[in-house]
Amino acid sequence: MHAVARVALSVAFCAVQSGCDTNAHASGSSRSDARANAAGYSGTNSRGIPRYVNRPFTDEERAILRRAFGVVNPSHLYVSDSTDEGVLKYDPEIKRCPSCYVNSFRLGYISVRNRGESWDDLELRVKRMRRSDFPPGSLVASKSIDMLDPEIQPEVRQMLADAGRAGFQVHVGSTYRSPEQEAMVMAGGGGRTHTLTSLHSYGRAIDISVGDGNPGHQRTRAQWIGFRRWVTSYRRDDFRVIGAPDRTWDWPHVELPSARIGFPSIERALAAGRACLAAGAQARCEFPPHLPATR
Ligand SMILES: [Zn+2]
Repeated sequence: MHAVARVALSVAFCAVQSGCDTNAHASGSSRSDARANAAGYSGTNSRGIPRYVNRPFTDEERAILRRAFGVVNPSHLYVSDSTDEGVLKYDPEIKRCPSCYVNSFRLGYISVRNRGESWDDLELRVKRMRRSDFPPGSLVASKSIDMLDPEIQPEVRQMLADAGRAGFQVHVGSTYRSPEQEAMVMAGGGGRTHTLTSLHSYGRAIDISVGDGNPGHQRTRAQWIGFRRWVTSYRRDDFRVIGAPDRTWDWPHVELPSARIGFPSIERALAAGRACLAAGAQARCEFPPHLPATR
């Protein structure tokens, strides 16, 4: 089956049962409660190092995190930031210095990870993969807005038009990427990605270049910083960038997180893990994408 059709079909399932039928307001308030519980391990310290969780885990909790989400060492978990959109992440190797880049994986996101596989093992497996190792038709990369989550397509189109009107020369380089395509990017090396769990695979990230597309050029860099400042304050702050407007390893990446994708706390991940691992469970351990059925 085609990769896009396959991920579209998975919409029929829910990763977190409590999140399936509740309305936005109800799930939003409970998410805020969960985020408050995660305050002790959210965001980064003054040196830019993640505030990894510091609490004991029972054997049962360790087993759930390992089996459902590939987590070998729960003390390497943290929540990405302290906003409502913060999501639970796992660094197989912890970040020790501000400029040390390590791979980070968002729990519950779709990826090429096999059931029961640890992230450490997956990193090694992906490093050895060649294009011919991926199933035919699974390497999907698009530049089309039509391939994004239909929920965000109107806002993205409006933002791009408004960016042009505001004087920014913007060019969309990438929108949807299948999890296999994300793995290909990592297999290619060169630090082009530090994750296999991307919002590109949910159709909720866009790579946008500015001007001549080379942030090494002083003029382009100034324009790009201006665009990144502009887009992160656009409307209701829906658009996020990696790093800061003037400092990043990934200049083009812009994403629109969703409260429906990702765990706001370890407790939420544990509850979802227990549900998806239960005998005969219908719930999946990964959040389903909401993508167009065809492209
Ligand atoms: Zn990107």
